[in-house]
Amino acid sequence: MADRIDISGLRAVTIVGALPHEREIPQPLQIDLSLEVDLRDAGRTDELGDTVHYGLVADRVVAAVEESKDILLERLVARIADEVLTFDRVDAVNVELTKLRTPLAVDASTTSVRIRRTRADADLPARTVHTAYVALGSNLGDRESYLRLGVLGLGHVTSMSSVYETDPVGGPDDQGAYLNMVVEVETSLDPFALLRRCQQIESEAMRQRVVRWGPRTLDVDIIQFGDISIVSDDLVVPHPRFAERRFVLEPLAEIAPDRCPADWNTTLDAGGVYRRGPLVLA
Ligand code: ADP
Ligand code: MG
Repeated sequence: MADRIDISGLRAVTIVGALPHEREIPQPLQIDLSLEVDLRDAGRTDELGDTVHYGLVADRVVAAVEESKDILLERLVARIADEVLTFDRVDAVNVELTKLRTPLAVDASTTSVRIRRTRADADLPARTVHTAYVALGSNLGDRESYLRLGVLGLGHVTSMSSVYETDPVGGPDDQGAYLNMVVEVETSLDPFALLRRCQQIESEAMRQRVVRWGPRTLDVDIIQFGDISIVSDDLVVPHPRFAERRFVLEPLAEIAPDRCPADWNTTLDAGGVYRRGPLVLA
């Protein structure tokens, strides 16, 4: 993985070094950081929550350096790496720590140490990524662009079903046909954070929640989240009604047949769901 966030030329003044005067007088240090972070989600969603807040990293690193009274740059640089790895989207960090006023008697401009540390080095668990299945539906306005907005907002989509045109199920009689699809998402969000993301996408699509099961520009539902089961006021996973909905199961079967209940295709009423073709993203 090659994505990085670089913070260069951070300055802090602190006590560091083994020489007597270095124990007395604070000296200036420069810190250069290169964070290895998967930036694909943020590249699609434009959400700060999908990346590392580098302003916060810089503040925390400077504070840790200013607090320190370490003797060795080696010790201080390791503490900086640990501090950066507390940001759980950081997979690894490269840190270079430079004494801007070198204490050497010979002529040298700076001295520095440079390390790379991973989550494993810091005994931290690897960032956990879950596979979730999310259903999208729209029956108002430019339905296909709403689906597109949903797919792009969900981040790292690893598989997409075709788009299906489907007859409305439940709700008022006079609503138009839906476009539905299901996508597979790899996410490091927890299920509740993914639900908030879905709701945020719905509000971006200006969904107006007027009539239950009534027409909507965009409905975004979590169908399954790994093998996790949740029953809470705000979130039920697997989605309580997915196994009865052909407009969810047909697209889900296209990308993840093993995620569908056995025999769904013969036990559910046939009809009402028509495959249209792939969603064109560009
Ligand atoms: P539906 O999706 O059944 O047509 P809504 O989109 O209006 O209806 O859902 C309303 C509520 O359902 C949301 O406020 C949300 O908190 C809750 N909810 C429970 N489980 C889920 C889930 N798995 N995915 C999405 N929303 C869910
Ligand atoms: Mg919903």
